[in-house]
Amino acid sequence: MTISRSPTPDLSSLTIKDGGSADEKKKKGEADSFVRRDLYEERQTLESGIGVFATVVIPSGTRIFCEESVVMLPDAAGQLELYQAVKALSGGKSQMYWNLAGSTKPSKDVGWIDTLRSSCEEDATENFNTLVEEHEQAWSIYETNRFICRSLDGPKTSLGVFPASARINHSCSPNVFHRYSPTIDRLTVHALREIQPGEELVTSYIDICHPTAVRRQILKHWGFRCRCAACDSPDDEEDHRRKKIEDLYTKLKGLEKKRASSTKEKGYEKFMNLVTRVIKLLEKEGMEESDTLGVAYKTAVRVGMILGTTDRERLVEWAEKAVGIEAKCLGEDSKEYIAATRLLEAARQSQLDRMDETKITNSSSLLD
Ligand SMILES: [Zn+2]
Repeated sequence: MTISRSPTPDLSSLTIKDGGSADEKKKKGEADSFVRRDLYEERQTLESGIGVFATVVIPSGTRIFCEESVVMLPDAAGQLELYQAVKALSGGKSQMYWNLAGSTKPSKDVGWIDTLRSSCEEDATENFNTLVEEHEQAWSIYETNRFICRSLDGPKTSLGVFPASARINHSCSPNVFHRYSPTIDRLTVHALREIQPGEELVTSYIDICHPTAVRRQILKHWGFRCRCAACDSPDDEEDHRRKKIEDLYTKLKGLEKKRASSTKEKGYEKFMNLVTRVIKLLEKEGMEESDTLGVAYKTAVRVGMILGTTDRERLVEWAEKAVGIEAKCLGEDSKEYIAATRLLEAARQSQLDRMDETKITNSSSLLD
């Protein structure tokens, strides 16, 4: 789900997902798709259309959805490409697509209508109007339900529609975490904590570190006002903490970029302070198990190792926490989990090296 899109269409890279046999998938190294319908049911909500509700206790870290897209397009694709992709869907998938809610307003960019008119035989009659309306409805569903899908390497981004996962409503205090995993070409949804029967499964469509006013503004894209506890009764202190996390996080990223700076020790101290503050704030906001914190830990370990910190034990501890968080939020087949385990290996190795160095120093001092 995203707001950004570019108007340049690129028909050559249009992809329509249409299954494939189990053997074909195995050959391509793809995972099986599944949705754990034994764990949840879809139900009408009071204000947010259909929602997804737990029917049993869902343990923390459970993969509830591992879903294949029905449509995936480059982020530059427009109304015409989308319509072609949707029209090419087989019966069941087409129905799943059209059953989704579309809540965005028609786009102000209407250049595609002229292109459509010149490319089809319909003249300016009722049929053509219906065709335009169908395009607009398909686009509205796409804009409301699409998820960002980042490729494994490089900045290439696509947008995909995953009909079962698209039913999960938004909350700024989510209990599930979603992300497209390029290693298995699936959207995965994991429980962030133990979820009780009857509880609605909610994910965050946006960066939860934004303060209330900013979150409201961004959420307008989906045409609803969030009714989560954080939005319904915004608390200045909480907003301040979220804003602080956002600022500190930006600073962390900046520091990592400047990691080659000559003031190593000073930079490291500053960095340690920042990480500790981010962690404390995330915990206060009940985000201690979030992917944001996983990223903070990983950044901390990377910079700590580059700067040559002496506190290797702490780096190992952070790396272990990152591994745990990535396993829970994204699963052991995700690139994030694999990166965290590599970081943990490196941190452990660096701890061993440091112990050896200490031994050598100690023995030399004994010889002196
Ligand atoms: Zn909210």
